[in-house]
Amino acid sequence: MRTRFAPSPTGELHLGHAYSAVLAHHAARAAGGRFLIRIDDIDGSRSREEYVAAALADLAWLGLEWDGEPICQSVRLGDYAAALGTLRAHGLVYPCFCTRADIAASLSAPHGPAGAIYPGTCRHLSEAERERRIATEPHCWRLDMTRAAARAGELQWEEAGQGIRVADPLAHGDIILARKDAPASYHLASTLDDAMMGVTHVLRGADLIASTDVHRLLQALLGLPTTLYRHHGLICGPDGKRLAKRDAAASLASLRAAGVDGRALAVDLAAGRVPAGYSLQNP
Ligand code: GLU
Repeated sequence: MRTRFAPSPTGELHLGHAYSAVLAHHAARAAGGRFLIRIDDIDGSRSREEYVAAALADLAWLGLEWDGEPICQSVRLGDYAAALGTLRAHGLVYPCFCTRADIAASLSAPHGPAGAIYPGTCRHLSEAERERRIATEPHCWRLDMTRAAARAGELQWEEAGQGIRVADPLAHGDIILARKDAPASYHLASTLDDAMMGVTHVLRGADLIASTDVHRLLQALLGLPTTLYRHHGLICGPDGKRLAKRDAAASLASLRAAGVDGRALAVDLAAGRVPAGYSLQNP
């Protein structure tokens, strides 16, 4: 068994991250497997080196030990570009020149699991117009979801303890695979890296369950193995809302500064016990 914890170094880790890391670590250790760390730092404008160091310090404080060196997505850009090239060669991606405002102005835009579905404006551009605009206009690359889903056929994954789930990538519309400001989207980078790292079990928060529709599709399109998934419950704050990076009181750094014992916290989280005032909302 190989599991991973994949923080984005865009802020301090909080109790929800600790819960995810503890579950992934303990699952690997219980099976005599490996627990890996990946730093999801493709977003160069938001990622900060100090948050990488802080995340590793937080994990060590929890008593978690990882195998090998953490892997940074920022050194894997060539692989993401190659995968995008493969999908382009299959005619499954297209450049999109729309701004956020263009998309927001499209009143008919329906909603999918992760917000507004792209209305498909740039899908209909001619090859000549694409070539001309690529040279001068900022653009992202989108997956032509109808074609991609047709090519992949019906897809499923195994959700630990719950059985088989049918993936519904079409519900997401033409998602972005490479952004204007970053060379790969979370979906593309995460799917490729889980495969490259040999991850067998993806444990992550229930807020990401819909992403698995897309990850399963990308696995199929790129000939990657699939993994078993477990989307665990989310820790909510005193206000009943799930924790966010801005909830400073729940940051692991502030708990540590307040004298909380990290190893004891990890034991509690593994057993599904959360500190007073917080709650665990199971999916
Ligand atoms: N960097 C992602 C996050 O923090 C990882 C998500 C995942 O585990 O796939 O949300």
